Amino acid sequence: MSRSFSNIPLAETCLANLAAIGYETMTPIQAESLPEILKQKDLIVQAKTGSGKTAAFGLGILAKLDPTVCRVQALVLCPTHELAEQVSTELRRLARFLPNIKILTLCGGVPMQGQLSSLEHGAHIVVGTPGRIQKHVRKGSLPLSALTTLVLDEGDRLLDMGFYDTIIAIADAAPAHRQTLLFSATFPERITEMSAAVQKQAVRIAADTEHCDKSIRQLFYTVAHPERNQALYALLAHYQPESTVIFCNTRQTCKDVTEFLRHKGYSAAGLQGDMEQAQRTLLFTQFANRSISILVATDVASRGLDIESLAAVINYELSPDPEVHVHRIGRTGRAGKEGLALSLCLDSQEYLIRRIEECQKRPVTRAALASLTPRPGTLAPPMVTFALNGGKRDKIRPGEILGLLTGDVGLAGNQVGKITIFDSIAYVAIAREAAATFKQWLPNGKLKGRVFKAV
Ligand code: AMP
Repeated sequence: MSRSFSNIPLAETCLANLAAIGYETMTPIQAESLPEILKQKDLIVQAKTGSGKTAAFGLGILAKLDPTVCRVQALVLCPTHELAEQVSTELRRLARFLPNIKILTLCGGVPMQGQLSSLEHGAHIVVGTPGRIQKHVRKGSLPLSALTTLVLDEGDRLLDMGFYDTIIAIADAAPAHRQTLLFSATFPERITEMSAAVQKQAVRIAADTEHCDKSIRQLFYTVAHPERNQALYALLAHYQPESTVIFCNTRQTCKDVTEFLRHKGYSAAGLQGDMEQAQRTLLFTQFANRSISILVATDVASRGLDIESLAAVINYELSPDPEVHVHRIGRTGRAGKEGLALSLCLDSQEYLIRRIEECQKRPVTRAALASLTPRPGTLAPPMVTFALNGGKRDKIRPGEILGLLTGDVGLAGNQVGKITIFDSIAYVAIAREAAATFKQWLPNGKLKGRVFKAV
């Protein structure tokens, strides 16, 4: 199968934009699904984050979008706020070749008012979480009469989160004559059920039968149950990954592991499924800007976590579901870098390892804990995060923060890390060695009347 975008019927301007943003060839999922998507078929696609699925449906949406009609023509439902933001960002990048395309992100946890006034101005594409979208549909603020594409992204997660009925209700409010695209990393039975309820003669596409990415180095260590903490510590001390997500199967284990790691001097944070959105956003930001190096999470709590390059995934406990295992480790090794997936397993879990081998279609590699040697190194992450109590709403821009830090505060450019600006708050990462200088400046310093504080 040809992997060049130019072999599929996309507008010249669209192809030029793809070249401009550096997409040279299609990913396997795009090569399989795009031709069908452009034929307006309903699709059910097995694809995980990192496969290029957003561009697959995004290009489909844009190919038939009428920019002169400012009505909602495509709706993308995502399980989490973070994913919705990522999808919108990717769609905006893909839509650069079209003039004035409005893409709105509508998620729960923020006041309705702002969203209502944005909707009044009209939009071509809406991306959001099901609960909030349904609220708008019911209220009449989000008319779906011009909808031509409905996308269900991360279908398995949408179902895990209990959105089945909400999705059916939203689909029922959309014109029957539409294209419905369903993406999911795994295929539990309810996915088939949902497909039957919202799609017509859906074509099924599974891109990489070889689930497990070759660029992931995967190792299994057998450990006795009471020795798992020590084994985890030995793995971290040996590999010293710059950023790690540790998976546990229960919230309580997550809490215990986080506490153990903190006690050992690591900057570790636990991600809980029931965390406030603001708290989750802060943790994700700190992790992405390298001021927290370890996140400990259950599968539920890790939803929406999409880090460009995650150095390692550690399974403190194996997931009882091999598909979930493959999904967990798929988070490392992206962006062309080799990933590291380390799993602790118990003697009694041989059957599970065989199922993982079947699922990934290759034998697992085992290593002995005795082979690990702790290396000297620092446990502190390289950056420290500070918050500014103002954001987009206050017209705060990254350049201004950078200018202030390198000007007034006197930091070197390379001491300023990632700057992340949200509606009413902004975060900036500062090199650990420069944090003290910045702290000294804090009491008298302001930016547009807003103040910084350590988080
Ligand atoms: P996704 O699976 O949609 O989350 O995409 C994963 C990443 O791959 C995103 O950062 C995309 O910008 C990028 N990407 C998608 N398609 C391509 C492509 N054909 N070539 C290069 N990068 C791509």
